[in-house]
Amino acid sequence: MSTTISPFNSLLQRETVAMPVPHVAALAVQKAYRKGEHSVPVLHGVDISIRKGEFLSIIGQSGSGKSTLMHLIGLLDTPDVGEVQLEGQRIDDLPARTRDELRNRVFGFVFQFYHLLPELSLMENVLTPLMIRHSIWNYWKRRREFQERARSMIERVGLGHRLTHKPSELSGGEMQRAAIARALVAQPEILLADEPTGNLDAKTGREIIDLMSRLNEREQLTIVMVTHDKAIAAKAHRTVKLCEGRIETFSDAA
Ligand code: ADP
Ligand code: MG
Repeated sequence: MSTTISPFNSLLQRETVAMPVPHVAALAVQKAYRKGEHSVPVLHGVDISIRKGEFLSIIGQSGSGKSTLMHLIGLLDTPDVGEVQLEGQRIDDLPARTRDELRNRVFGFVFQFYHLLPELSLMENVLTPLMIRHSIWNYWKRRREFQERARSMIERVGLGHRLTHKPSELSGGEMQRAAIARALVAQPEILLADEPTGNLDAKTGREIIDLMSRLNEREQLTIVMVTHDKAIAAKAHRTVKLCEGRIETFSDAA
């Protein structure tokens, strides 16, 4: 029986072959901020890979470098050492203009404090990424299509009855829904959400996470979410803990 090939071996082999390229990854990234003469190290060599369609949460104490890591992944900042890859291709060292285009096309951002423009209606706020992305002429030509797209996105986040409201006329939960609609209207591949429930009560926070989970399941949207709330983090497929600029533990949510 010594000639029998171990089924375990062939399984291992198949798994190696089938291993998909991560959707987005940070490889050995280091980042320090300058404070006057001093350099304050924040990330000390972080490795993180996110699969296509995965919902990953990053937890860690305040100041552990979570936002810094998100900024590097989303091309809002560049690492000092290491690299960021999109589908296996390095993207952090591209020319600034190419990075800007890539950022607008690939990533949608949601922040703790919504960052809606106070003078604009909900509809206009959601349209801003499309205005930024297209030339004035192109935007004008396609404005009906874009307005329809924005309206449908707003309906998907449950705010169809608030189209003409200004941010000041919306609740915290509604503002975060609006921010999610704005992040998704340009059809990004990856949603980066930095403490999206940090300013909301527990029930409203759960509603926002449920909305993100639905978008992840139905549209295979890749989501990276930063939170310091373990219960919120557990809603993701997988949790990574950042501790003083290093990845400490990985865990699969039940
Ligand atoms: P977290 O999101 O986990 O709270 P951050 O990534 O925002 O942590 O910050 C990590 C550390 O880097 C903190 O000590 C913070 O003060 C510092 N830091 C963040 N952004 C800057 C910046 N632009 N300039 C200088 N220091 C910064
Ligand atoms: Mg932060």
